[in-house]
Amino acid sequence: MSRLTDPPLDEAVLRAAICAAGRRLGSRGLISAGEGNLSVRLSATTLLATPTGRRKDELEPDDLALVNLDPAVGQSSEGPRPSSDIAIHRAIYRARPDVVAVAHAHLPASMALTLAGLAPDPLALPETAHHLPVLPVIPYGAMGSDALAARISQAFATLDGPAPVAVLLERHGAIAVGSAPAGPSVTESVERALVTAGDRLELVEVLCRVWRDALLLRAATGQSGPPASIAG
Ligand SMILES: [Zn+2]
Repeated sequence: MSRLTDPPLDEAVLRAAICAAGRRLGSRGLISAGEGNLSVRLSATTLLATPTGRRKDELEPDDLALVNLDPAVGQSSEGPRPSSDIAIHRAIYRARPDVVAVAHAHLPASMALTLAGLAPDPLALPETAHHLPVLPVIPYGAMGSDALAARISQAFATLDGPAPVAVLLERHGAIAVGSAPAGPSVTESVERALVTAGDRLELVEVLCRVWRDALLLRAATGQSGPPASIAG
């Protein structure tokens, strides 16, 4: 992400940005209780992440956890501790050097669909066909497990087509990422990437709600099977 000549990222600005992103997810009903987590890449070796056991829409800048990208370095005994889902964030940042922000939420409609063994086709709607052309579904894995983190990072690193910007987790919502666009400052580009990751989560949930409703309406009107993609 950053070059050697770039100035260091403004940690205070990014702490405020994560708190704002949490409030935004909460205002749209995408996170409940202590669910979900957010992080940004703060340097080549460190991340700034939301803490465990707290509502992500009521955080203050000092509530965030500073985390090393390398789990072997361990966590300082002082300061807030990140969620166990931080293993997923670390794996994604290691697999995708372009990614500077990660957002995760237990999206209700996406959990309902995967719980029923279903997954939406992002090519069914023009908006998601454009912004989420691929939406891999990751089989269920225990929260915080290395196996789940590995499956997710492998999905994001599959670049033989359009790079995934979000994945669905069976029974566990979704994860979306943001890459740093060209911007007036490195800090602002990371802020924008975090907003984009949140928008992508919202888009995943809208797709899942629409897909669920379309299946129900098709069944109620005697139509069989899922809706067709735009290409038919
Ligand atoms: Zn989770």
